[in-house]
Amino acid sequence: MNEPLLVAGTRPELIKMAPVIFALKRLKVCFKFLHSGQHYDYGLSQSFIDQLELPQPDCELAVKADNPAALTGEVVTRTAGAIRSVRPSLVLVQGDTNTALAATIAALKEKVPVGHVESGLRSYDWRMPEEHNRRMIDHVSDYLFAPTKTAYLNLQEEKTRGIKHITGNTVIDSTIHYVPKAEYVSRISERLLFKEYVLVTAHRAENVDNAEILREFAETLQGSPLPVVFPVHPRTLKRFRDSGLLERLLSDRNIQLLPPVGYFDFLVLMKRSSLILTDSGGIQEEATSPSIRKRVVVMRDSTERPEAVKWGFARIAGTGKENIVRCITQSLSCDKKLPARSPFGDGSSGEQIARLVQEITTLGHGPLPIPSQPDLIPALLRSRA
Ligand code: UDP
Repeated sequence: MNEPLLVAGTRPELIKMAPVIFALKRLKVCFKFLHSGQHYDYGLSQSFIDQLELPQPDCELAVKADNPAALTGEVVTRTAGAIRSVRPSLVLVQGDTNTALAATIAALKEKVPVGHVESGLRSYDWRMPEEHNRRMIDHVSDYLFAPTKTAYLNLQEEKTRGIKHITGNTVIDSTIHYVPKAEYVSRISERLLFKEYVLVTAHRAENVDNAEILREFAETLQGSPLPVVFPVHPRTLKRFRDSGLLERLLSDRNIQLLPPVGYFDFLVLMKRSSLILTDSGGIQEEATSPSIRKRVVVMRDSTERPEAVKWGFARIAGTGKENIVRCITQSLSCDKKLPARSPFGDGSSGEQIARLVQEITTLGHGPLPIPSQPDLIPALLRSRA
C-alpha cells in the first residue's frame, strides 16, 4: 500500500504537523516526511525537529532561493520529483506557507490527492501572502481539515470541491503535550531581565517590510506600559538594522531583545508573560490553549482566527502606536476570567486527522471530480448580478 507524504518547511509547520506524525505512528500507519528547507537556519528548523522529537525527514530539499517566487518554483519542481519516486497515497500539507502551496501544486501536477491541515482560514486581507496561499491550496485540495466551524463554513461558502472535516487545530495538541516538558527543561527564565513583561513577536511581511509601520512598531515597543521581551525573527532583525532602528531598541532599558528562541523556551515565555503582542497567526491560537491561557493584542488590521477574538482572548489593535498601547493597557487591567477551553480544539486534532489519513490511505480515494456545471451556474449568476 502506498504511504502518505507529509510536508513541512517552516517552524509552525513542524509544530503543527508533529501531533499528526505521532498519531500516525500510534496507529502504525507508515508515512514519508519531506522538509523543504524554507526555514533553513538551525534555530528555525533542525532545533524544532530535535525538540519535538520528530523523525529525521526522509527527504530534505534544502532549497535556497532569494525570493518567494523562486522558492515556490524550486519546491514545486523538487517535491514533484519526490512524489514521482514515492508515489504517495496522499500529500498532506499544513497551513499557508510557500512550501504548502508548492507541495500542493506538485501533487496536483503529479495527480496525487492533497489533504490540507488548517483549511478554511480567511483574513480577507489581500496584502498578506499567506491569504493568497491558503485560498489557492483550499480550492484544489481533495481533503480539507478545518480547525473550526467558522473555517468549515468559509469553505462551504466558497464552494471548495474537497471533502470537509472539522478537526480542531493541532497546535493545541502540541501545547498540551509539550508545556510540561518545556517547564522542566527550559532555562530561559534565568535570562529574563524582567519579572513582568509583554512578550512580543512580529515578522509579517505587510508589517516589517513597510518602513512607516516598522517605525511605528519600534515606537510602540518604547511606549509599552510594561517592559518588553522580544525574540526577534531574522527578517525583522534585518529590517530594524537596515532602517537604523536597532540601536534605539538595544539601548532601551525597558526592552529585552533575544534571538529567536526554541519551542520549549517560547512556551515558557508565553506562560510567564502578562500579555502577548504579536502579528503571528499560530500564537493567537496557542494563547487560547488551557496550557497557556493568555490575552493577545494582535498587531494587524484583521485576523483569520476570529474565534480568539469572540472568546475574549484576542484584541485586534491595528498597527498604530496609540491604539496598540491602549489595547495593551486595557488588556492588562481586564479582570474578566478567560475561558478554560480553547475555541481551536481539545488536543485531539492530530488523532482525528491521522485516522482520516489512515482511512484515505487504506480506501485509496482518488482525486475528487470537479463540481458539476449546475452547481456553478447559480454562483456565476450571483457574481454577475
Ligand atoms: N515560536 C518559537 N520561537 C520563537 C517565536 C515563535 O518557537 O522565537 C513558535 C511559536 O510557539 C508558534 C510558532 O513558532 O508556534 C509561530 O511561528 P511564526 O510566528 O513563524 O508563524 P505564524 O504562526 O505566524 O505563521
